[in-house]
Amino acid sequence: MKEDTGLDRGYDPRNIEDKWYEEWERNESFRADNTSKAPHYSIVIPPPNVTGSLHMGHALNNTLQDILIRYHRMQGKNTLWMPGTDHAGIATQNVVEKELAVEGKTRHDLGRDAFIERVWEWRKQYGGVIINQLKKLGASCDWTRERFTMDEGLSRAVRLVFVTLYEEGLMYRDDRIINWCPRCHTALADLEVEHEDSAGSLYHIRYPVKDDPDSFVTVATTRPETMFGDTAVAVHPDDKRYTRLKNKTVILPIIERELPVLFDPYVSMEFGTGALKITPAHDANDFEIGNDHDLERVVVINEDASMNAGAGPYEGLDRYEARERVVKDLKEQELLEKVENYTVPQGHCYRCRTIIEPLLSKQWFVNAEVLAREAISAVEDGRTRIVPVQWEKTYFEWMRNIKPWCVSRQIWWGHQIPAWYCDECGEVIVAMEDPTTCSTCQSSSLTRDTDVLDTWFSSALWPFSTLGWPDKTEDLAAYYPTSCLVTGFDILFFWVARMMMMGLFCMKEVPFTDVYIHALVRDEHGQKMSKSKGNIIDPLEVIEKFGADAFRFALAAFAAMGRDVRLSEGRIEGYRFFVNKLWNAARFVRMNTDDDYQPDFDFKKRNLSLSDRWILERTAQVVEEVRRALDEYEFNVAAGAAYQFVWHEFCDWYLELSKIYLSSDDPTNRKRSQDVLMFVLDTIVRLLHPIMPFVTEELYHALPTSHGGVVNAEYPDTNEIPRFPEAVNEFDRMRNLITGIRNVRGEMNIHPKKTLSAIVSSSDTSILDGLRDNIEYIKTLAGVDSVEFGVDLPQPDASATVVTGPLTIYVPLTGVIDFDEEKARLEKELDKITDDLSRVRKKLSTEKFLTKAPAEVVEKERDKESALISKQERLAESIDRVTAYLKES
Ligand SMILES: [Zn+2]
Ligand SMILES: [Zn+2]
Repeated sequence: MKEDTGLDRGYDPRNIEDKWYEEWERNESFRADNTSKAPHYSIVIPPPNVTGSLHMGHALNNTLQDILIRYHRMQGKNTLWMPGTDHAGIATQNVVEKELAVEGKTRHDLGRDAFIERVWEWRKQYGGVIINQLKKLGASCDWTRERFTMDEGLSRAVRLVFVTLYEEGLMYRDDRIINWCPRCHTALADLEVEHEDSAGSLYHIRYPVKDDPDSFVTVATTRPETMFGDTAVAVHPDDKRYTRLKNKTVILPIIERELPVLFDPYVSMEFGTGALKITPAHDANDFEIGNDHDLERVVVINEDASMNAGAGPYEGLDRYEARERVVKDLKEQELLEKVENYTVPQGHCYRCRTIIEPLLSKQWFVNAEVLAREAISAVEDGRTRIVPVQWEKTYFEWMRNIKPWCVSRQIWWGHQIPAWYCDECGEVIVAMEDPTTCSTCQSSSLTRDTDVLDTWFSSALWPFSTLGWPDKTEDLAAYYPTSCLVTGFDILFFWVARMMMMGLFCMKEVPFTDVYIHALVRDEHGQKMSKSKGNIIDPLEVIEKFGADAFRFALAAFAAMGRDVRLSEGRIEGYRFFVNKLWNAARFVRMNTDDDYQPDFDFKKRNLSLSDRWILERTAQVVEEVRRALDEYEFNVAAGAAYQFVWHEFCDWYLELSKIYLSSDDPTNRKRSQDVLMFVLDTIVRLLHPIMPFVTEELYHALPTSHGGVVNAEYPDTNEIPRFPEAVNEFDRMRNLITGIRNVRGEMNIHPKKTLSAIVSSSDTSILDGLRDNIEYIKTLAGVDSVEFGVDLPQPDASATVVTGPLTIYVPLTGVIDFDEEKARLEKELDKITDDLSRVRKKLSTEKFLTKAPAEVVEKERDKESALISKQERLAESIDRVTAYLKES
């Protein structure tokens, strides 16, 4: 045994992770080669916000992507993981505005150009934070291709898509209610409006019913000055109070305009009088009702919050002055029924605290209904597969009820809309090149639209804009459609659906063939992680504490399909122990191979031991299982199978058994054992690399079998592993025998140093012969100095009994154990078996189970019953015997 293994005594991730990440980058290990002829595998990263810092959601999302990318890269595919960040319009603008606020400024003090300049500077300084955090996690993106949604190429793509949609009539302007500050004279994004309740009044106003003297409908409103914009009154169709209004109209007081009465189930019968005035141009909810009923939109308030001609006698008055006057006039005309105190939720401008005015404004819309058609059929006909499949239902529901997509936003940071308006003739010009004159009247007085596009507009193009579209690039040819998109369900509609629509519109091909939807990360009790609950786990903290590999393994191990990932530091620490276990196993193998050791993995002609054949077969089975699970996005199954195998088979059993041969005087035995150890270890290191990239890279370099890095090594394949399927049963019998003896030792509290003897009885001679051949294993691992095998051997005086499968094992206890205790143990065991048996029998006597359960399930229960019966009999016999020996002793 040698001491210098090339591996430190204990594993410290901090010394290793950064080293290997730098090495991978230096060697361009993640670089995709678009000239490669190998089949491609590509993923585009869901671009994190440039303002973002790594949270649990990112950690899970990117770990799963990295596992897939590394897995496919190791299969020799032409692999690309395309990285980048999102400009995150409103979020980024807010961050920079907060910076300005510290200096006592607003973005308006700087002006648009200087403000945008400032955002770019901010991005240059801080925009790389999340990228470096992804590297800490081990993300193997091709960083040479990193993109940003606002970079030159992507901005060109955005503009071309806008212009094309416009030219095809799929991008159009329509009215919409926006937030308007009458003092700043600017539109505000929703996030820029500060909401606050204030004391106000609810005015009950009588609208006379036409041709029905002395009959009124009373409506309640907090804003009587907007009544001149009313274009209907609405009531609930079931409201008995208003059945009299069928086929009637009402008269708007003061200006005496006629209004239709609508019957709409949207109206609440409980609120106010149950009759609602509808003002589509001055209220966002009324705007929607107006759309549903094709109502006219009558604007009565100007941009400076004064009343316009539509308000009749109140024209020119400020909105609040008009309110006072309207209320006074209604009172005089006896049309004001009452005034109640009322709390009014009010939006204020974030800059000047002025109460915002909902204002009708022209906004840009995408005709999503047309684009959705192809996106629906692409999932219907399987061109794109959504995993887990139940999300397809949600996708179809959304897509079949899709509304026009409003893409204009009233902020500065983003892709400014490429539309110009002629100040002379009102012509709208949408073009790839900035126009200098009007195409209709040749005026050079043009004003560009001040809005920018919704951030999701540019991210909808991400799968092809990042590959160089609209140019016909090698990357596009090699990597589009991408292979898989990995994302959380929260952005299935915002992002995935829109990528589907845009990909099909621009590329005439789906953007990805698979969409894998993962769940959320919650705490171990299933609670959402939040600052207020104090249960947030910071990914960078746990990476620092336990290493990225343990963290990644925990994420994978708990990422069961369709179920939330429940994580705790304790769970992550558990996988830190696993990393140690692997590390120590590798050290053991290195310590037991000489410096001049030359591996020979040609096992066919060699005389392999049972344990060799068993571990090789199990290696093949686990490789098969892990590959299948990764192909099906069953990350937890892959992690679980690998964990179980490495810890409880390779480490717990094979390493222990190999000591017999490693210490043998026969060099053939020693060499054979070294080769199997090395072969399995090498396979394990490659098998685990996608989940635990760092420790496996360190270990791989310490293997005499390695060439280059494991990052570009071949993923294990079952056809490179010799198969011995029959070895598994044989080995399991022996393992059960050893475990049985160990259990006797454990349960009876027999000191580990105390050697025992064992008697193994069975009616099957071939099984006994197989066990006899491996008596050395049994002696070593069960701590017995002699084992006697025989057919139906009688139980010796005063011995413990273990029944496992076809074997009955007796461990003589005279001088070793207290018989009273042994009797109690057996009785306890008998109680348990009796309980189990009655449970099975109860089940088998249930009519419902017998008729409803599948035949094979019922059959299984019957087998269980007979096995329990024979075990019960054998235990009862044992108890009798111990009782007998107790009397004798
Ligand atoms: Zn303002
Ligand atoms: Zn013009």
